[in-house]
Amino acid sequence: MIKSVTDYLDSSARKYPDKVAFVDVHRSITFAELNNEAKKIAQYLMDKSLFKCPIIVHLDKSVECIASFMGIAYSGNFYTPIDTHMPQDRKKKIVDVLKPKAIITDDVHFEEMREITDTQIITYNELMGTLLNERQLDCVSKTVIDTDILYVLFTSGSTGVPKGVIINHRSVIDFTEWMTEHFQFDENTVFGNQAQLYFDLSIQDIYCTLKNAGTTVLIPNRFFAAPIKVWKILLKYNVNVLVWIPSILCLFANMDILPHVEKLHLRRVLFCGEVMPTKQLNIWRRNYPDTCYTNLYGPTECTEACMFYEIDRVFSDDEILPIGHACENIHVFILDEQGSLIIKPHVIGELYVRGTTVGMGYYGNDEKTQEAFVQNPLNPDYPEIVYKTGDLVCYDDDYNIMYVARKDFQIKHRGYRIELGEIEAATYSIPEVEYACCVYNNDCDEIALTYTGGGIINLKEVLKKKLPEYMIPQKIIHRDTMLFNVNGKVDRNAIYKTVWE
Ligand code: AMP
Repeated sequence: MIKSVTDYLDSSARKYPDKVAFVDVHRSITFAELNNEAKKIAQYLMDKSLFKCPIIVHLDKSVECIASFMGIAYSGNFYTPIDTHMPQDRKKKIVDVLKPKAIITDDVHFEEMREITDTQIITYNELMGTLLNERQLDCVSKTVIDTDILYVLFTSGSTGVPKGVIINHRSVIDFTEWMTEHFQFDENTVFGNQAQLYFDLSIQDIYCTLKNAGTTVLIPNRFFAAPIKVWKILLKYNVNVLVWIPSILCLFANMDILPHVEKLHLRRVLFCGEVMPTKQLNIWRRNYPDTCYTNLYGPTECTEACMFYEIDRVFSDDEILPIGHACENIHVFILDEQGSLIIKPHVIGELYVRGTTVGMGYYGNDEKTQEAFVQNPLNPDYPEIVYKTGDLVCYDDDYNIMYVARKDFQIKHRGYRIELGEIEAATYSIPEVEYACCVYNNDCDEIALTYTGGGIINLKEVLKKKLPEYMIPQKIIHRDTMLFNVNGKVDRNAIYKTVWE
């Protein structure tokens, strides 16, 4: 029985020691090397008596990140990757929530971490000097069970504090087993990793590679500004599976490069995280007619995908793709506002998810956990936690589930999950601001921030110190007075109209 994701690495390192597991821009690493580097990290953490503790990995996307994740898992601790490009302010907020017992970084990023915390900071090079005591390490690794936490991934939080989704080994194992079986991943699978390692979309790239002894090519995210550069990498390593966000697939389709570049042997293209527009999907399908395409749906809170739809027919450019059906051993259901089950087509309600890939809650945040990880409303008789997604959906005539909209102010902008409240909270934290209101236009994928209060020289520059680049509004508008509705609340609809109508 597999009870820790490190069992995958042990097994692949035994069967395929010399096969390349991960490649980044600087180096590649075989399964045996990865196993060895991970174990040195584990030994170091064990020697410091760290067990079941949060450990931050503050490194650029690299094979060292993967080795750190595995090392942390071997030692019975759990990891949180932090984006090295994130503003210091936001890194500090994550550190304050997580209270990590150690941080793994490199010489380049050491000082950035030292500025915000007194926690012990270790460089990767230092970890590589650790002497292994395999028997001792084995003894500790064996105490890890599948309900232990594997990682905490932070997503945007409406109150201005990012939320840390807790995921255990079992969730990742069950997701990996399903993905492998359903999509027939094996040792010949080569993923072209697009997602940053602090996003859930990277989970199958990492764990299906470890389980099946495939290969993942870690593509630096800055390369996606120049799609030709990305394509050259995909060709160089014979990438045959892409699991990318729709925004990036659209970028390649819109730039009309697919017909003009050397052909890849693409077995599968999967997309997840936001609505995939059919027009751009059709461009991919025309250029790669023999590739299998799948729409995956899922929030970070459910590990990654919990629903899927195989693109099994022609969709016209203005049709909407279904999100389909639940993955194996997951149950999804739709409830109306009174909590009654919806079983009729075209009736819209909120999607709930049940199963082992549902996370354990938000780290150090009972309030938000209780709002989203709730007792199954259909079952009053015994404890059973389900995830309330906040996504409005309905059945179509064939009983495929269709995504309709969000219930709240969470948006997807360029593929990034953002709570508009987090941008407002960052704006309110500037002393001169009196009111702030953020609205989003889905048609042009733009965020607009309207605020009142005087004396701010350059709000955009101030916000860049507080928020990641992708959260910076495209439009920043100063008003002398804010608009309020009859209840005295900031009138979002009226603000939206002043910006776009
Ligand atoms: P994240 O936690 O970043 O994966 O974002 C999860 C949210 O993205 C979901 O709650 C949905 O609102 C949205 N989402 C994920 N997959 C899809 C999809 N295939 N189609 C439409 N929206 C999606």
